[in-house]
Amino acid sequence: MPKPRVSAAGGVAALAYAWKKGRDAGGVAKLYKRMRARNACKTCALGMGGQRGGMVNEERSFPEVCKKSVQAQTGDMQAPISESFFREHPIRELETWSSLRMEAAGRLAFPVSWTAGDTHFHRIRWDAALDRTARALADAPRDQVFFYSSGRSSNEAAFLMQTLARAYGTRNIHNCSHYCHQASGVALGRLVGSGTSTLSLDDLDQADLAIVAGANPASNHPRLIVKLVELRARGGTVIVVNPVKELGLVRFRIPSRLGSMLAGSDVSDLYLQPHVGSDIAVFKALLKGLAEEGAIDRAYLATHVDGWDAVEADARGTPWETLLEACGLTRAEIDRAVEKIAAASRGVMLWAMGLTHHEHGVANVTALANLALARGWVGREGCGLLPIRGHSNVQGVGSMGFTPAIKDAFAKAMEDAYQIPATGSPGLDTYGCMLAAEAGRIRAAVFLGGNLFASNPDRAWSAAALQKIGTTAYITTKLNEGHVHGRGAFHVLLPVRARDEEAQSTTQESMFNYVRLSDGGEAPPPGEIRSEVEVVCSLAARLLPPGPFPFATMTDHDAVRRAIARVVPGYEEIETIGESRREFHVAGRVFHEPHFATPSGKARATVPPLPSFRPSEGEFRLMTLRSEGQFNTVVYEDEDLYRGTTRRDVVMMSEADARRLGLSEDEPVDVVTVLGRMRVVAAFIDIPPGNLAMYYPEANAIVPRRIDRDSGTPAFKSVLARLERAGA
Ligand code: SF4
Repeated sequence: MPKPRVSAAGGVAALAYAWKKGRDAGGVAKLYKRMRARNACKTCALGMGGQRGGMVNEERSFPEVCKKSVQAQTGDMQAPISESFFREHPIRELETWSSLRMEAAGRLAFPVSWTAGDTHFHRIRWDAALDRTARALADAPRDQVFFYSSGRSSNEAAFLMQTLARAYGTRNIHNCSHYCHQASGVALGRLVGSGTSTLSLDDLDQADLAIVAGANPASNHPRLIVKLVELRARGGTVIVVNPVKELGLVRFRIPSRLGSMLAGSDVSDLYLQPHVGSDIAVFKALLKGLAEEGAIDRAYLATHVDGWDAVEADARGTPWETLLEACGLTRAEIDRAVEKIAAASRGVMLWAMGLTHHEHGVANVTALANLALARGWVGREGCGLLPIRGHSNVQGVGSMGFTPAIKDAFAKAMEDAYQIPATGSPGLDTYGCMLAAEAGRIRAAVFLGGNLFASNPDRAWSAAALQKIGTTAYITTKLNEGHVHGRGAFHVLLPVRARDEEAQSTTQESMFNYVRLSDGGEAPPPGEIRSEVEVVCSLAARLLPPGPFPFATMTDHDAVRRAIARVVPGYEEIETIGESRREFHVAGRVFHEPHFATPSGKARATVPPLPSFRPSEGEFRLMTLRSEGQFNTVVYEDEDLYRGTTRRDVVMMSEADARRLGLSEDEPVDVVTVLGRMRVVAAFIDIPPGNLAMYYPEANAIVPRRIDRDSGTPAFKSVLARLERAGA
């Protein structure tokens, strides 16, 4: 088994890394100054920074910093890419570059374009780039365009872009969360009438039990581990449900706590390793155990939950053998977990893409949420449901209406205030737009950040679909694979300021529904880099006649925020934030009382069916996952410090399976799915036999396009695969 270089996650290695990156970025003091500035962290949606200062969270805890935040910050502090770079590297060569190499190329400092037949990118004037993009949009039938956003952008830019799109006449508007947490949004929307976290950060401080399912926050949201360690220190319990035994979910050294730095801290009490894709069986088994132990909160269920009887009858009626056989856990493991859940009085459920990236993603989340309902843990302080969101403003982008449909009250307000049509049928979602692109039915697309190409399953299909688009315009800070593989017949890259380089303040929403104000203020790299809001307004000026929505005045961020306050439900407090500097929780999202945003005010429990997913003889359950050295599709390092792998073209498997197949570590092996084969090398990790893991997004090359019908989220996990020895 590859031995990680560290015995616990975090610790000295994280500090040393930050120090090194600081030197690379032009000096540790310079990096520290950028990190401490009053801007929201650019990386994950846990959130820190804003008006309390960088490295401070909403509970005033300091220092809130991690390797991820350092990586994103130093990435933005890179030197600008020169014009000669684009002369020296033809597009065919750039197509062979890895995500890591793209990210390390530097900051994009002037617009570049590519036209079908060109061998290289060429510098282009801003006016020409915007004129061509606007002309392509103006000429296109309104149902043959697509507006996409990542979670990097500000609320202000996202709100303006979706408003532009609706005013222009399309609803093909969607964001990157469709491919990660759409299943959570759908499940939570059904359950409590609101699609985001039901709790706030301080609820984690009151809980005495946490279930962390299908998530690896040690790698992806490192400061969340502090909350888990603190929960345990209070005498509470952490249960992890994850097929892979992750070092950072076992032991972590918290750099800001001396004792933890020296001795390390245990993160979890009980670690359940079910088969990939079998979470519903695990959660049903736990529910069955709770029911049989009489550990269900009947008074809560009777008063605050509709549909419970069917859920409990289903769990009780499913035989133990069926559930245990499906998940691969033992009855003793389930009993231990049931005992701990039954003994706790306030519990929180946390999950990420280990639950959502399946054809049964919504059902997975529903099954976990049912456990919380059983204990009366939704709608109480110190309790609740927390989807661990990815990019720092992915939730805000959704709140701003960067979705094919918006909530009734929001849509009605858009129509009343600005005569912009917003009620009625939805546009295409992200995957729907990809299918339309494949069919040659997308004439123009505008991407507000992100890397949609690499975020898709079936990379060859993804590239081919995007390359059928007539005009593609990417608004971006740095290069990524999508800018090369996802290029339309006419293609522009438009360079914009990072959040902390904005000349005016911007806002971002965390996974706890907390809205931060970022001051901006740092100088962008020299060049022709513009503000995102300015770019959107420039497009609007070219595309739209003057109308009730005053785009001409919207280069003023306070004006944008006044418009947001007028129409976005729960965002009323944003109106004066530029002046008051008062950050806030979005109204109506956090439930500390069991009165929910459903028509009846009750939670709506539903029965999640057991999936039929089963490997046949010789098949494995394959999942894709991310490494400690990456964030979303951006790869910062080939090494995965916590799993001990040093390259990304690996298939991670159990030693027992390797022995059975006569495979040794680092031996070349082909992973074969219905989509194709990929030559990688074997690496051994602690995962149950019969299961495999490979790195996202590279392994998307062999991930077939299977979609959760409830949410539209692609299944990047629970893929059936075979292993073939290279040359066999
Ligand atoms: S955990 Fe997330 S929000 Fe906190 S410092 Fe790290 S990347 Fe930033």
